[in-house]
Amino acid sequence: MRTPAGSECPYYFEDFHRGREVQTCRLIEDNASGGRWAPELCARCPVPRITLANACPSMILEARVVSRLLGLRRGVEVSAYCTKSLQTVAEPEIGCGQCHEGFPAPLAPQEEP
Ligand code: SF4
Repeated sequence: MRTPAGSECPYYFEDFHRGREVQTCRLIEDNASGGRWAPELCARCPVPRITLANACPSMILEARVVSRLLGLRRGVEVSAYCTKSLQTVAEPEIGCGQCHEGFPAPLAPQEEP
């Protein structure tokens, strides 16, 4: 679903149908220590970029609201974990790399006779 910031995020949910006013981040909501989410946080959240770059089904994300600049600015901190390699993923946009090991090597371009 498209966030208030205009990016696609699989964790954003809104419902303004028939007088409802529901907006939520299901990723932060699922984290017991995720903090208090607000729609403006989507503009500073790395999750849409991560999910666009890496659709690995083995990687799970966790997000929480953090305060920066002495509490003047709030943001979203994201951590990733791979359920296949059982390790923390340092760069979620790239992944842990284990799934890529099974891919065949790219073919070299063929020379024309
Ligand atoms: S805060 Fe991030 S993860 Fe949550 S709905 Fe907004 S863009 Fe998606």
